[in-house]
Amino acid sequence: MISNKANSQFRSQLKAHFFDLMTKDEQGGWSQFVEDLEAIITDSIKAQKACIYIYNKAEDAFVLISSTWNNNHPAKEELTSQDWLGLCENQTIMGTSIIAREHLDQGYRYFMPLVNHEEAYGYISVSYNLEENVVLRDLEIVGEEVSNVYLKMRSYYQSLDEEKRHERLFRVTAKFHSSMNMDDVLAEIIDTLRQLYPVFDYYLLLSHDYSSAHNLPIRELVYDSDGSNNPSAQAYLTGEFQFEESWNERQSCFYAPLKGKQGVYGVLQVVAPKTVQFVNEDINFITLLANTAGNALENARLYQQSKRLISDLQLINETTHKLNSNLRLSDTISFLSNQILHSFHAEEVGVLLFQGGNVEDYQVLQESSSFFSQDGAERLLQYITSSIGEQRDALFIGDFSVKNPSFYSPYQSIMAIPMIQTESLKGVVIVMHTLPYYFSFETFKLLQSLVHHSTLALANSMLREELERLVSTDYLTKLYSRKHLDETVHKHVGQDHNGSFIIVDIDNFKQVNDTYGHQEGDRIIVEVSNLLRREIGDKGITARWGGEELAIYLPEVDINEAYTIGEELVRKVRDYTKPRVTISCGVSYWDASSEGEVVDLFRRADRALYEAKESGKNCIKREQTMGIE
Ligand code: GH3
Ligand code: MG
Ligand code: MG
Repeated sequence: MISNKANSQFRSQLKAHFFDLMTKDEQGGWSQFVEDLEAIITDSIKAQKACIYIYNKAEDAFVLISSTWNNNHPAKEELTSQDWLGLCENQTIMGTSIIAREHLDQGYRYFMPLVNHEEAYGYISVSYNLEENVVLRDLEIVGEEVSNVYLKMRSYYQSLDEEKRHERLFRVTAKFHSSMNMDDVLAEIIDTLRQLYPVFDYYLLLSHDYSSAHNLPIRELVYDSDGSNNPSAQAYLTGEFQFEESWNERQSCFYAPLKGKQGVYGVLQVVAPKTVQFVNEDINFITLLANTAGNALENARLYQQSKRLISDLQLINETTHKLNSNLRLSDTISFLSNQILHSFHAEEVGVLLFQGGNVEDYQVLQESSSFFSQDGAERLLQYITSSIGEQRDALFIGDFSVKNPSFYSPYQSIMAIPMIQTESLKGVVIVMHTLPYYFSFETFKLLQSLVHHSTLALANSMLREELERLVSTDYLTKLYSRKHLDETVHKHVGQDHNGSFIIVDIDNFKQVNDTYGHQEGDRIIVEVSNLLRREIGDKGITARWGGEELAIYLPEVDINEAYTIGEELVRKVRDYTKPRVTISCGVSYWDASSEGEVVDLFRRADRALYEAKESGKNCIKREQTMGIE
């Protein structure tokens, strides 16, 4: 018989060991604790090995939670509750709480229940070699003490886990609030889940095209309208979490919707490879993280949307601002087409003007992209202009071949926005791409408002140029207008004997504008004009030919003299302008022997100017046909 004293001594020693274990640093976590616990059990009752089995509701069986067996000695891993009942009924060792003793090849195995409120939640199995002297009472005491310690420590470690989870949750939310980068937030969430529940696999099933810089486990969310037997679709459609249990494959899935305030943005799929039971705390925690992801996705989308809106507004603002700064018509159109080409990634942009509001009488502006001046373009342009004429509304075609199967067009995506000013149809802006459905409806709306805002500026430029053609003085330089010069030369050619014509073009003026701005550009044109007017005086008439081109007619002046005058102009402009600009000139000449018309005089000067530009600018060239140079 074993004395009570020995019993209580054994119990005290065991408790002391457990106390040490409980006060030990918990660095190794739960699994280290279980390992240590098993070691204490083995040592205290001099067993060869001890294992702890805990009841798992999902499997309805007692499952081994940790084992000191090495792999050479596989143990019977679990008992189903049926087995358990069998053991309890038949094999309880009389007079003890030990429920069974099992004969092994080389010894015995004993089963002690782990009990809480008179219900067994697990058992310890201990094995002995044959010759080992087993003290049953000690085994009983171990069962009783471990019953207590195990549960206490489990709830302690659970609360540690909880704490860890909250810490992680805090980190994720901190990240979420500090970053607008959806990728970072999703990565943090996946990382957190992997650290907290390393046994699970995770996938982000996303509903929208999502490309990620991180290596996120993203899968496409597949759902049809019904979705009734597809739990991921169910989660997405209902916004409620779903389970999918496929016991055969010993795998279960948990689907948590990524829910924001305005909608569901995808689903987090959690795959448990073994039949691990999802407990409530875990489900709550994962749901919380999924909601954080949903909010992050929502925020990022709203952010993208507002960024796009801002850039749309910037585009409109910048364009109208630029257009209202008194550009020439050709510059206005070039600027507008460039903006459209770049902002909308269009392949073709064209501007057509209607003469007198008549859509059949259209003029393709030369600033339009190449397609518009091609031979085959007419048919398509007629189609577009007549539609605009009929509807007096914008045209938005996603797939031209579907809309007009009998009509071949190389461009499937077509947007055409009429330019309407004070109720009259001025023209149309046409934007095209070869791919169907290339432009979004938002792009179409943006283009509409861009054209809408630009029409006034375009109409103004047109009016101004029309006016310039009619008046004899140029509004900016106060030089004579081209029209006036043209008429004067015509008159002279009819009356005089000879005369010279100099065309002047400011070098690299585009760059001047880009460097100093358009206003300063205007001022420089005026400065050069004043210099020319002063130099020429009443030797001839000085006019603005157009843009940064000026022209001088010198009646009764031969080409040599004109050439010298021109040389002087080139030098003076180079020396006296501030900021310094240079000019290139071309000179032509006529006398009684010249054949041809006045236009030829202009054309010859223009060719000479071209030569001057070709030979490096900042110089003057005379026409070649005279055979002098
Ligand atoms: P190049 O030396 O070959 O003449 O180069 P460039 O840059 O002067 O030639 P280009 O003809 O390509 O550009 C002329 C520029 O002059 C384009 C236009 O923006 C600018 N321009 C034309 N008229 C005006 C105007 O009235 N005011 C201002 N500020 N710029 C003008
Ligand atoms: Mg020019
Ligand atoms: Mg120039």
